[in-house]
Amino acid sequence: MAPPQRFRVLRCCSCRLFQAHQEKKSLKWTCKACGEKQSFLRTYGDGSGADCRRHVQKLNLLQGQISEMSLRHSNILKSEHRRQREELKSNWREERSPTRNSRTLKREDRLVSSDC
Ligand SMILES: [Zn+2]
Repeated sequence: MAPPQRFRVLRCCSCRLFQAHQEKKSLKWTCKACGEKQSFLRTYGDGSGADCRRHVQKLNLLQGQISEMSLRHSNILKSEHRRQREELKSNWREERSPTRNSRTLKREDRLVSSDC
């Protein structure tokens, strides 16, 4: 009886996609998504085809969640940063003496807001 086909979970070094590949004697493999030829540098698991495909799905999902999370995080940081800038700007305005020439103030104000 032939042994069951073994699969490996690999990750493309180019597009970072996880994928299941049948175990071969060759040390090279080709990415299913972008076609990048590469060597087996690291396997993320092995087992039957069904096991590996499940694992691949999980890893890709996890990877998507992580990148989405960091994206959302950077957006939060950005809006937080903007809010702080607004506060800084209003504080800066209050510090200005009201006797100052309003035209100069306007021009400076434009300079501050144009560097977004
Ligand atoms: Zn790829």
